[in-house]
Amino acid sequence: MNSTNQQQMKRYLLKTSQIIAVFTLLIAISCTPAPEQEQASPESNILLQEWTGPYGGLPAFDQMNLADVKSAMERGMEINLAEIDEIANNADPATFDNTIVPMERSGAALGRAFVYYGIWRGSLSSPEFREIQGELAPKISEFSSKITQNEKLFARIKAVYDASKENPLAADQQRVVQQTYEGFAMNGADLDAASKTRYAEINKELSSLYTTFGNNVLADEENYVIYLNEDELSGLSESYIKSAAKAATDRGQEGKYAVTNTRSSMDPFLRYSEERALRKKVWSTYYSRGDNGDEYDNNDNIKKILKLRNERVGLLGHENYAQWRLQNRMAKTPENAMNMMEAVWPAAIARVNEEVADMQTVADELDDNITIEPWDYRYYAEKVRKKKYDLDSDEVKQYLQLDKITEAMFFVAGELFNFNFEPVPEGSVPVYHEDVNVWEVTDKTSGDHIGLWYLDPYSRQGKRSGAWANAYRSQTTYDGKVTVLSSNNSNFVKPAPGEPLLVSWDDANTFFHEFGHALHALSSNVRYPSLNGGVRDYTEFQSQLLEYWLSTDKVINNYLVHYQTGEPMPADLIAKIKKAANFNQGFSTTEYLASALMDMYYHTTDPTDLDPDTFERETLTALNMPEELVMRHRSTHFGHVFSGEGYATAYYGYMWADVLTADAAEAFMDSPGGFYDKDMAAKLVKYLFAPRNSIDPAEAYRLFRGRDAQIEALMRDRGFPMPE
Ligand SMILES: [Zn+2]
Repeated sequence: MNSTNQQQMKRYLLKTSQIIAVFTLLIAISCTPAPEQEQASPESNILLQEWTGPYGGLPAFDQMNLADVKSAMERGMEINLAEIDEIANNADPATFDNTIVPMERSGAALGRAFVYYGIWRGSLSSPEFREIQGELAPKISEFSSKITQNEKLFARIKAVYDASKENPLAADQQRVVQQTYEGFAMNGADLDAASKTRYAEINKELSSLYTTFGNNVLADEENYVIYLNEDELSGLSESYIKSAAKAATDRGQEGKYAVTNTRSSMDPFLRYSEERALRKKVWSTYYSRGDNGDEYDNNDNIKKILKLRNERVGLLGHENYAQWRLQNRMAKTPENAMNMMEAVWPAAIARVNEEVADMQTVADELDDNITIEPWDYRYYAEKVRKKKYDLDSDEVKQYLQLDKITEAMFFVAGELFNFNFEPVPEGSVPVYHEDVNVWEVTDKTSGDHIGLWYLDPYSRQGKRSGAWANAYRSQTTYDGKVTVLSSNNSNFVKPAPGEPLLVSWDDANTFFHEFGHALHALSSNVRYPSLNGGVRDYTEFQSQLLEYWLSTDKVINNYLVHYQTGEPMPADLIAKIKKAANFNQGFSTTEYLASALMDMYYHTTDPTDLDPDTFERETLTALNMPEELVMRHRSTHFGHVFSGEGYATAYYGYMWADVLTADAAEAFMDSPGGFYDKDMAAKLVKYLFAPRNSIDPAEAYRLFRGRDAQIEALMRDRGFPMPE
């Protein structure tokens, strides 16, 4: 759910290696120099200063000044590099205490600056800030390479790592050492000089190929616009027609209507347009992006990328790219990821057959005299939805008041985590905007302070869209007890004073999801900062799981109540919502899985003679891909995988987390106390939330469930036909 955004807004951890990870996600928007501004001297820069005040010290959100951010970030990086040099140049033999611990401690000042930077980026952005962001981006990238390429530092990390294999440290320390070592080694720190040179060359070539790949897709999105006349608009909504008219005018085609070559334009067109020939044209244009045999064709780029990736991981001693990438993921090996996907695949395509049969019936009833083709899927699926799953979203909304949902989340947190939420005294905690509210979180039994929860619910100019969670400070104990500052952010439209804020079912679900991230941060029980880090195919699971509590009886009966009558949401309405959630799951699972499988096949196959066009076709044929739909992202425009490395052999991760989520939810359903079973709740906190990344996620899950996750729960959850 919404994973890309959440990945980008990962917690701001105060540890060097994680800061690097976050920084690599920054995007340079502008390189124009910022106007001259008054700048505080580094020593007095408020953004670098230690946090003071109650609750273990708090960010000075009420004293933020944009003029300070550039110097704070630059000075923060300088301090961090000095700390790293001191660790690297230590004359004493390397130990855990003189190398790993100070690395964990390093970057605190930069981490503080980065919290403010993150607020401007996500919640208070402006053209001025984006200029500063553009200036900082290359400096940040240079900063992170200086650390990862510090040979003396790596030699010390390696010494500690090697020694730990002889004399193991405490389990959590061992994990810190291993992860630190692997993080450096995976990126070439352990290579000899010649290999290092080649490694750097490959990375340089790859980064320009990634840019070209992305730009080619963009060019095809911009260049292939389909213009319609007034008599070609049947079935389209008024708002679609309006924006299509504007898109045409913007392109100098006044009086026409533009279907642009993007998902947001294509998808509703295919869903609603009654012009079948045009649907085919729009569909073909969209799914040919990067595959038109012209100067923007990406087939050759894919070949080059795959070869270079293969060569690079070969230098590190790996058989293929997927094996290298998955070593520190929960799945661990490409085989494990592949087994999971191949197990779901037959049920997903069987469900497609059922959906196609439903759609064919509708088409026949309408005397349309057609056989369902890929450009018909969305159109007839919409007719099936209306017939079988229609929901009145206005009716649902009347039972979903944001204040009540917030109370429901506190109730769930109390039942599962033994947390109590209490608003902080007015004015006691600095905030960056008057809309932000803050609660103190304590243990219900002992009253111990656990942390704060900041909620910034409303949309406004300069705030990014969507919903996300982050932590301004994460829990650790290695330097004394550090408490948590967590936050949730949404984009609801602010209601008039005294009016209830009514939200959609999806929004309520997302609100619970983000709160799951906050609970994951608040319940953390680890010693070292880096153990708060996320594992890509595991980190969405906890928050996805929490979504299930929204539709538990206790929440429905006490909190999902009609805003006027106070009556709980009727059972038949809940049933309708659940049924509608399974609508078109065959289509969405199959188009997703086809892309995820292809991602994995590309990176486990010898690329020497691989031709993407042939490879894609033959692989899909071997998979029995239904003819009525295509991959969600065909190879030549699969930006997740080929315009960078963030999601290369990681696209499977969405479903990996979904499998865990469905399987863990069933563990609750099957227990005596259901979703409020006390034993299950204790295990949930102890094994799935509190350890964060201090134990192997696969091991943690086994401790919770008594076995590995099985895929059957996901199949039931999505309404798939079960294999014999
Ligand atoms: Zn999330």
